[in-house]
Amino acid sequence: MTKRVAVITGGASGIGKETSLKFAKKGDRVVIADFNESAGTETAEQINASGGEAIFIKTDVSKYEEVEALVEKTVEEYGRIDVMFNNAGIGSPTPVPDMNLESYHKIIDINQHGVAYGIITAGKKMKELNIKGVIINTTSVFGVLASPGTFAYHATKGAVNMMTKSAALELAPFGIRVVGVAPGVVDTPIIQGYKDKGIIDAMKAKVMGNKLTQPEQLADTVYLLSLEEASAINGSVVMADEGYASFK
Ligand code: NAD
Repeated sequence: MTKRVAVITGGASGIGKETSLKFAKKGDRVVIADFNESAGTETAEQINASGGEAIFIKTDVSKYEEVEALVEKTVEEYGRIDVMFNNAGIGSPTPVPDMNLESYHKIIDINQHGVAYGIITAGKKMKELNIKGVIINTTSVFGVLASPGTFAYHATKGAVNMMTKSAALELAPFGIRVVGVAPGVVDTPIIQGYKDKGIIDAMKAKVMGNKLTQPEQLADTVYLLSLEEASAINGSVVMADEGYASFK
């Protein structure tokens, strides 16, 4: 049986790293894409050492030509691309009055354009190779709920939600699914880096059980969404937020 090939951006850390480990454990070939070369290489080595198959390709998702090259190199190496997980992202704890254009553009370039480039390049390649693949985009509860202090981040995740729906519609005729996954509060370096721990406590309080979601739980969700058995889920943003967006 042909092994699936999964490209995972932001695969060096947090949700992306755990998802890379999960897909590899399940027998898929994994391409870890990240701009953190040492951590990405380490994750690929960890997979290969435990009997899985992975390569690392250094990629800055905010550069179209690098994402295009990532998809090309994946196909050169493994002959196909079945799953594109557009997950790389950064936080932006900057409220509107303190915003400078440089940091605004940086987050848009990574969180929004990076996902768009992944959708465009993987969508084109899957169509060209006649692969009925799946493109999964990491969005956030902050794509549907506003909170103070993260204006630019909200803008990017709202865009990812809409790109997911629109791309799903356009790629459906080729048998390609596009799905979003929206975490709530996940225990990864993005939030571990918050200096004001009160923000984390406030976010935790919005989650059932008052706890942080573990990145392994997101990896499980992404894996489930990638399966043929999830074929009815298309153009949807699946809330993997332990209730964050469901209650006031
Ligand atoms: P993380 O910091 O552990 O992982 C993000 C990864 O993306 C890192 O490995 C980083 O090097 C990589 N990255 C950043 N910019 C990049 C670029 N330009 N090109 C390539 N790689 C780049 O954080 P995480 O929590 O695992 O975040 C993954 C995704 O989940 C992000 O899109 C984030 O917005 C989203 N998310 C996280 C949470 C949370 O609570 N942790 C909640 C909702 C959504």
